[in-house]
Amino acid sequence: MAKCALALGSNLGNSLDTAANALKALTNIPGVDLIATSSWYQTKPVGPPQPDYVNGCVVLQVQQNPEELLTILQAIELQFGRVRTEKWGARTLDLDILLYEDLVMQTPNLTIPHTHLRERAFVLVPLAEIAPNWIEPVSKKAIAQLAKEVDCTGVKLIDPNDIS
Ligand code: ADP
Ligand code: MG
Repeated sequence: MAKCALALGSNLGNSLDTAANALKALTNIPGVDLIATSSWYQTKPVGPPQPDYVNGCVVLQVQQNPEELLTILQAIELQFGRVRTEKWGARTLDLDILLYEDLVMQTPNLTIPHTHLRERAFVLVPLAEIAPNWIEPVSKKAIAQLAKEVDCTGVKLIDPNDIS
């Protein structure tokens, strides 16, 4: 089994529902065990003008290798109706592999740790909630430390009482 961290994001349709349902679909997959779930955050988009995002992170124990995991994530993105248009454009669901143990790898379709992990507050803030001491293997800094180093002003905790 390997420990990995994923990011979930959505900014079209009912994003909270989509994120929660995608998480359910993911944890129903044999060989995937949910270890921890962050709060959900409302975040300002990066890239072209578009609605705010809902973002969150999970830590999983998985039997799958990184390539197998990516295939599963892309199938779930499709299942939830993601349509790929412009780069960084609006999407119903985005699932990214952030960390996989202390692995550093780069292939044409998979970069681990995720390329933007170290600079994106909308990923670092939720991840720091559930994996503050995980050492990001490229910078060799803890996630909590990386989260401190970015501007978190566009990342707002969603009050669980507002979620029906
Ligand atoms: P982004 O997540 O940067 O907004 P996309 O979700 O459209 O962009 O992903 C584009 C491609 O990124 C995918 O086809 C996938 O092959 C590749 N990719 C590279 N590294 C990763 C990773 N760590 N997690 C998920 N996808 C990745
Ligand atoms: Mg993605």
